[in-house]
Amino acid sequence: MEQKLDTLKAKLKEIKNINDAVAVLSWDQQVFMPSGGATARAEQLATLSKLAHEMFISDEVGELLSDLSEVNSDYDSDAASMVRVACRDYEKARKLPPDLVEEMSRTFSLGQQTWMKARAEKDFSQFQEILEKIVDLNIQMAEAYGYDESIYDALLDQYEPEMKTEHVAKVFAELKTELVPLVQAIVENKDVVDNSILKQEYDETTQWGFGLIPLQAIGYDMRRGRQDKSAHPFTISFSVNDVRITTRVYKDQFGPALFGTLHEGGHALYEQNVAPELEGTILASGTSLGIHESQSRLWENVVGRSKSFWQFYYPNLQKFFPNQLKDVSLDSFYQAINKVKPDFIRVEADEVTYNLHIFLRFELEQELLTKRLKVADLPDAWNAKMEEYLGLTPPDDAMGVLQDIHWSGGSIGYFPTYTLGNILSLQFYNQILQDIPDLPEQFARGEFEALLDWFREKIHRHGRKFTANELINRVTGAKSIEAGPYLSYVKEKYSEIYKL
Ligand code: ZN
Repeated sequence: MEQKLDTLKAKLKEIKNINDAVAVLSWDQQVFMPSGGATARAEQLATLSKLAHEMFISDEVGELLSDLSEVNSDYDSDAASMVRVACRDYEKARKLPPDLVEEMSRTFSLGQQTWMKARAEKDFSQFQEILEKIVDLNIQMAEAYGYDESIYDALLDQYEPEMKTEHVAKVFAELKTELVPLVQAIVENKDVVDNSILKQEYDETTQWGFGLIPLQAIGYDMRRGRQDKSAHPFTISFSVNDVRITTRVYKDQFGPALFGTLHEGGHALYEQNVAPELEGTILASGTSLGIHESQSRLWENVVGRSKSFWQFYYPNLQKFFPNQLKDVSLDSFYQAINKVKPDFIRVEADEVTYNLHIFLRFELEQELLTKRLKVADLPDAWNAKMEEYLGLTPPDDAMGVLQDIHWSGGSIGYFPTYTLGNILSLQFYNQILQDIPDLPEQFARGEFEALLDWFREKIHRHGRKFTANELINRVTGAKSIEAGPYLSYVKEKYSEIYKL
């Protein structure tokens, strides 16, 4: 059996090598590649992805897995976890017919190109036909995977394994009942917070230089990573020892670059702190997008937008930008970076209204998959929900239904993981505060090691060993996601800021 395990590990490592090479090519595509390289790159990616898929779903891998899964061993051990996770991936991968995989790859790649142009020209009609095909392929994929209750379950499972639509809907409904009136109350008091100090000229290079300071202080290891610029910030891992992040810098405002850097830094800390002995194995990455997002949102918001964090960094920031900030108090700055304002664009939304953008997408996706909503009617449905949740009507499709890249790349069922991450970040944080009550005082001294050590021990080092629910249970004692801690956090924080 020992030998079979070694054979399996070697096979999976070869497949991982190909997938990591795919990741390097994707990173290059988004960071450095000239636009002329797009067609050739799409083919390179398609060939490598197909090769990795075929190697993985081979009978040889299947036989090794079936022999090895009969061996009884400690659930938490590396070997048992590898076999368990590989079996789950294998069973899913085998359900997808190669023709469907190929068709999806081609359509999703084309979808992104079509979307980019449609978005630039603010014209949904250019995107409609390919989106109809994308929705249809997602329905075919869901049918191939199979599901018990809801077709959405099959797609959600790709990003948040084992999570059920019904549970997500229940938790979101709970959030909605409290967040919608909270946003209304804030809007009535909107003049309490002025964030105009953030909307001045902030030199790009200086912003970049400042961002690197907290990024390294929270524990991002530059010897095993690097930061570059890209149109949409992201984190990507080629190895435990090479985890890269990107950010974007606007010269006319302070905020997106720094908070984007902390967000991606949070994702990267998870990937860099997977146990070294899992390097090169199927377990060497984060376990689900919700858990991943709990890390990024925690460092970005719970830490990065806290008063104690800025007690330490604000005097330094004032030295970087004396003209803009020397006469601005810490309190005014803290309020400005926490301004709540219903707006059109999800990625630029504040902590409170952000979730409303997710509810809208979650509901529309379900209607599309169950064919209650036609793609042709999507812009109107989008605008109606924007009015319902945020009291706004987008001036054009680019500010509305065309704003996100996800659907164009074939990702339906992905959006809920953002709000799941927000919720989880507070479930974890409340637990951490019980273990380390003086954490905010540590932040005020610029110390983040205890927080990172806690996450490394409880979550990061396990990689994909445990599912999200297993981790939540082991770490907090709860069975799954619970909205309570997150709701208490936003209500307390924003009632104080907005004097509600
Ligand atoms: Zn993220």
